[in-house]
Amino acid sequence: RAKQQQRGSSQYFSAAMGSDARERFKLLKGLRTGFEDSQLFVVYQPQVELDSGRVIGAEALLRWRTADGRFVAPDQFIPLAEQSGLIIPIGEFVMRTACAQLKAMQSRGHTEFRMAVNVSMAQFRHPGFIDMLAGALRDCGVSGHSIELEITESMAMEDADLVLRVLADIKRLGFSVAIDDFGTGFSSLSQLRQLQVDRLKIDRAFVQEAQSSTAGSTIAQMVVNLGRGLGLTVIAEGIETEEQRQYLIGLGCHEGQGWLFAKPMPADQLVAFLAG
Ligand code: C2E
Ligand code: MG
Ligand code: MG
Ligand code: MG
Repeated sequence: RAKQQQRGSSQYFSAAMGSDARERFKLLKGLRTGFEDSQLFVVYQPQVELDSGRVIGAEALLRWRTADGRFVAPDQFIPLAEQSGLIIPIGEFVMRTACAQLKAMQSRGHTEFRMAVNVSMAQFRHPGFIDMLAGALRDCGVSGHSIELEITESMAMEDADLVLRVLADIKRLGFSVAIDDFGTGFSSLSQLRQLQVDRLKIDRAFVQEAQSSTAGSTIAQMVVNLGRGLGLTVIAEGIETEEQRQYLIGLGCHEGQGWLFAKPMPADQLVAFLAG
C-alpha cells in the first residue's frame, strides 16, 4: 500500500515536472520568435530625488507582449533567456534601445538625465560584453557617464573575481554601477567594499515592510546607513505611498523609484513626463 502510494506520488511528480519542462520549452520557443517578431520592447520608470521630487533619470525595463496581446512578466521570461543564452542578443537590444532613448532625451535638453539598465550574470560571463557596450555607446553617440548598469546583489557575490574584472572594464567606459535588490542577497561587507559601485538600491520588500515590521525597518535603516557609510548613493525601489517616501527621507535615503512617482511608461510618455 505504502509502496503503491510512493509510486503513485513519484509518477505524479515526474508528470508535473514533464509538463513544467514542456511549458518552459514552449515559452522559450515563443520568446525566440517573439524577439524576432519585435514583440519585445522597453519601458522606462522615472527615478527621483526623494526630498525635491526632481527627476534624475529612469530605469529601462523589458516588456514582452505576445501576438495575442498577453503580457508575460520579466520574472518569468528573463530566467529563460538567461538559461538559454538568448539574453545576449536581448540584452544588447535593451542596451541599444536605452542608449538611443538617452540620446533623444539629451537632444531635448535633458543633459543630466541618467539611464539605468539591468544586466545579467550571463552577460557578464559573455566574452563580447564589453565590446557590445562600447559599440552601443559609439553607435548611439552617448557617453557611459550618463548610464548606470544595475547588477543584482546575488550576482555581485557569485563569482567575485569575474565580477571585479568586468566591473573594472565597465568603469573604464564611464558607466556607473548600482547593486539592485540590495538586502536580499548575502553580501559580505568586505566584498562589497571591493566592488567599484556607486549606488545601492534597496529592494522593494524592505520598503514595503519598513513600517509594518520591526525587522523590515531595521534592515531598511541598516542598508541606508551602510550605503551612506561607504559613500554611496542610496535609492529605494517600489515606493508606493507618501508615508513610505517620508519614512525613507527620515532614514537618510537619497533617491527613489515607484508607483508613487510614476509607473514604467513608453518612451514618448517619458518625454512628456519630464516636460511636465
Ligand atoms: P528590478 O530591476 O528590481 O526592477 C524593479 C521592478 O519593480 C520592476 O518590475 C518594476 O516594474 C517594479 N516596480 C517599480 N515600482 C514599483 C512599485 O511601486 N510597486 C510595485 N509593486 N512594483 C514596482 P518588472 O518590470 O516586472 O521587472 C522585474 C525584474 O525583471 C526586474 O527587477 C529585473 O530584475 C528584471 N528585468 C527587467 N528588465 C530587464 C532587462 O532588460 N534585463 C535584465 N537582465 N533584467 C530585467
Ligand atoms: Mg533593476
Ligand atoms: Mg530592483
Ligand atoms: Mg527588485
